[in-house]
Amino acid sequence: MKAVDRHLADILAAVRPLAPMEVDIENALGTVLAEDVASPMPLPPFDNSAMDGYAVRAEDVAATPVMLPVIEDVAAGDGGVHAVGPGLAARIMTGAPVPAGADAVVPVEWTDGGTARVTISRPAPFGNAIRRAGEDVEAGDLVLRAGTRVGPAQVGILAGVGRRRVTVRPRPRVVVLSTGAELAEPGTPLGAGQIWESNSFMLAAAVRQAGGEGFRAGAVTDDPREFLEALDTQLLRADAVITSGGVSMGAYEPVKEALAPLGKVAFEKVAMQPGMPQGFGLVGPDAVPIFTLPGNPVSSFVSFVLFVKPALLAMQGLPTGPPPTVRAATTAPLRSPAGKRSFLRAVLSGEVVAPVHGQGSHQLAALASANALIVLPEDVTELPQGAEVEVIPL
Ligand code: AMP
Ligand code: MG
Repeated sequence: MKAVDRHLADILAAVRPLAPMEVDIENALGTVLAEDVASPMPLPPFDNSAMDGYAVRAEDVAATPVMLPVIEDVAAGDGGVHAVGPGLAARIMTGAPVPAGADAVVPVEWTDGGTARVTISRPAPFGNAIRRAGEDVEAGDLVLRAGTRVGPAQVGILAGVGRRRVTVRPRPRVVVLSTGAELAEPGTPLGAGQIWESNSFMLAAAVRQAGGEGFRAGAVTDDPREFLEALDTQLLRADAVITSGGVSMGAYEPVKEALAPLGKVAFEKVAMQPGMPQGFGLVGPDAVPIFTLPGNPVSSFVSFVLFVKPALLAMQGLPTGPPPTVRAATTAPLRSPAGKRSFLRAVLSGEVVAPVHGQGSHQLAALASANALIVLPEDVTELPQGAEVEVIPL
């Protein structure tokens, strides 16, 4: 059997970062920057008031109370030329340019709020409530580096430095194709021998969480021709394809039957539990990565965490590798088959981890109650309660 690490290494050696493209910043959320972004201007671009109040010379308000004539109003967006001479004040609003000559802003709360003249009850020191030009960013400063995932704040600073378009690696478009004659769409009644199809929903959601765009293709039956037709259609819009089911040792394994003869996908046994039957390859004229995951829901989920997510990170140009782990003490004794790496569903809380009840690869409810996977190495078959184990937080 192939080692888990070897399988991941083969996948990571085959996938490539997606080509960068330019997008409007309104569509940049969730993408990864493919360029360094610098500010063409200092931010703020000019000295401006941090508060509603009065622009003054600090020395004129050093002794309070004091009354000053108010010469004018300066509002945010005012592009005019303003100056405050000795012994005078200008009413100023938050974000408005500080008039020449003024070196402090007295918040309105420290005054009587007068419009013709104002009585100031508290001294404002030099520079009070003034936001200096370049205080956030100097002209030419890098504000974002290539390789940064764009979240809301990153969209904000892109706009804040005046960018409308930006070069990013797009979210990988990943089509999820389920196979199985027994599968019924959730929301429709179950016929005899049927179960509700859950993998494509789960995997498409996992893709989204990993930064991609997950699309469900409707499930197909166990007819290899039907599977190939669906795959052909989906390849047109996919940066990667995930299939579920149809790769085991039984009869009616449409994914294996359809793809094995083409020689582009390696179907292998990986030394892990759950999730032993795995397939990976590059298919179609564009050599689209395809992950053929086993159909048992927990197997397909664990396979996604171990193999597909790292590949999706690589396609986004992000650092990648095996899922990060933490260490914790198990609250119960653990067992694992010899020669396989086990991934037990568990609840991690602080420094302890408790395996959940129901470790079957079909037990989706148990998976849904877990927040972590306990990793038991290939050479471990038993561990006592209290033993320290490696854990993948989910
Ligand atoms: P397979 O890998 O096709 O042999 O399927 C293994 C097990 O997983 C079977 O019990 C299937 O019914 C179940 N299974 C396969 N695909 C799905 C799916 N999309 N949703 C839920 N269960 C599935
Ligand atoms: Mg099947």
